[in-house]
Amino acid sequence: MERSPLKCLFVSSEVVPFAKTGGLADVIGALPKKLREQGVEVRVVMPYYSKIRNQFFEHDSHFLTSFDVYLGWRVQGVGVYFDDTLLPTYFLKSDTYFSRPELYGYQDDYERFGFFCKAVLEMLRHIDFIPDIIHCNDWQTGPLCLLLKEMYSRDTFFSKIRTVYTIHNMKYQGLFGREALNVLDLNNDYMTPEKIEYHGAVSYMKAGLLYSDKITTVSPTYAEEIKTYEYGCGLDRLLGDKLYYKIEGILNGIDYDVYNPQTDPHIYKNYTWRSIKRKQENKKQFQLEYGLEEKDCMLIGVVSRITDQKGFDLMKDTVDKLWVMDKIMQLDVQFVILGTGEKEYEDMFKHFAYKYPNRSNVFLTFNEPLAQKIYAASDVFLMPSLFEPCGLGQLIAMRYGTVPIVRKTGGLKDTVIHYNSLTKEGTGFEFEECSGYWMYKKIEEAYTYYKEYPEHFRQMQLNGMKKGFSWDDAAKKYIKLYESMI
Ligand code: ADP
Repeated sequence: MERSPLKCLFVSSEVVPFAKTGGLADVIGALPKKLREQGVEVRVVMPYYSKIRNQFFEHDSHFLTSFDVYLGWRVQGVGVYFDDTLLPTYFLKSDTYFSRPELYGYQDDYERFGFFCKAVLEMLRHIDFIPDIIHCNDWQTGPLCLLLKEMYSRDTFFSKIRTVYTIHNMKYQGLFGREALNVLDLNNDYMTPEKIEYHGAVSYMKAGLLYSDKITTVSPTYAEEIKTYEYGCGLDRLLGDKLYYKIEGILNGIDYDVYNPQTDPHIYKNYTWRSIKRKQENKKQFQLEYGLEEKDCMLIGVVSRITDQKGFDLMKDTVDKLWVMDKIMQLDVQFVILGTGEKEYEDMFKHFAYKYPNRSNVFLTFNEPLAQKIYAASDVFLMPSLFEPCGLGQLIAMRYGTVPIVRKTGGLKDTVIHYNSLTKEGTGFEFEECSGYWMYKKIEEAYTYYKEYPEHFRQMQLNGMKKGFSWDDAAKKYIKLYESMI
């Protein structure tokens, strides 16, 4: 007898192309598509932020249904909208919670995402889709795993549904005051270290970790790292001693339709590995458009959230009594960074852009077309992260023939291979120690290859471009995982 297709509902607070602040959105924009190609019946659900409505849907013609959600003593209405132009996606509308300019960072985030989790479960009673698996992502969806296991699964309608909880970043745990218990209709029994209490706070991340059926992280190395004191963000004992049996690391890919130098509409000149010489034209045009001196020197690119996680403190170390950034600029290089984040680092990069006019530029904004231009124009891509669950920047860079220089941690370790000039294998440069000195040494090494051994530099570019980082493999692994659960 033929089995009916596996049904999976992805729950996420951000999804490309509708809303994005980082890699999570890329993953949910791409993985479900691949799963669908491989025969899984996939749907996605996300909040209906007002900017999605303004940008993507002129009219509310895709309205499906509405119902009430009970949150402690509150009753909140929710509208369900459905669109399947790209992927079958449900948008949950609540003006109270999601008509705001930003995705996160509000005092009532515990209530907004508590509401979201409950609304997703309630939605299932109103639509024609009962998933085998609900795939939750990051702290915003942690409570869903708890609500399903502790309450909803008593109802036979929900009892067969299993949950996967994916950690995209351990650092953001969704820690809130006790009022979060009330929103989730949980009593004080849940406020213990064995349950969802974390140093006096309610932890949405713990709700996901403890009450999901399987946990995944976005690279095999990160799956091991989070069980250690250094990387576990206070949850290492829980993960290493108690939950280790249900953790698996599955390496992210990138969407080869979106990140493709051959077809990318945002870059100046399209190219493939066969026509990589044309990549040079992207640098030229970029220099011209963004006020850098037009010359053939090594262009170092960064596209990143500018936070301490991404390793920018290393720029402030000293080498030969100079700031690392000053030392780097003593080489014949140009430096460009696109990102937003902590003011301290933003100011630092503004300072250097001012200090090295025509050679350095900083764009403190979130701009995807500009990001693509930087990936295509740069010769090397710098990613000195302190920790990196997977990292997509280095994967996109390699796809665009841009050689990554990374710290050997998490997904960076799993995806970048240090170049070996003897075997001509490898795709970039890695340094292990968290020090500005070693970061500088690797930039210097890349620079030497670029200047003195261009044929080796070209080899690294080609090795990176030919490496397969599509979602095919990951999708197969997720399917295997889902099948093991039902
Ligand atoms: P994280 O999820 O930790 O921010 P990743 O490397 O996993 O880091 O993913 C970051 C994604 O966001 C990449 O697709 C990167 O190109 C993109 N990105 C980061 N900052 C910006 C920005 N300022 N403008 C456009 N895209 C950005």
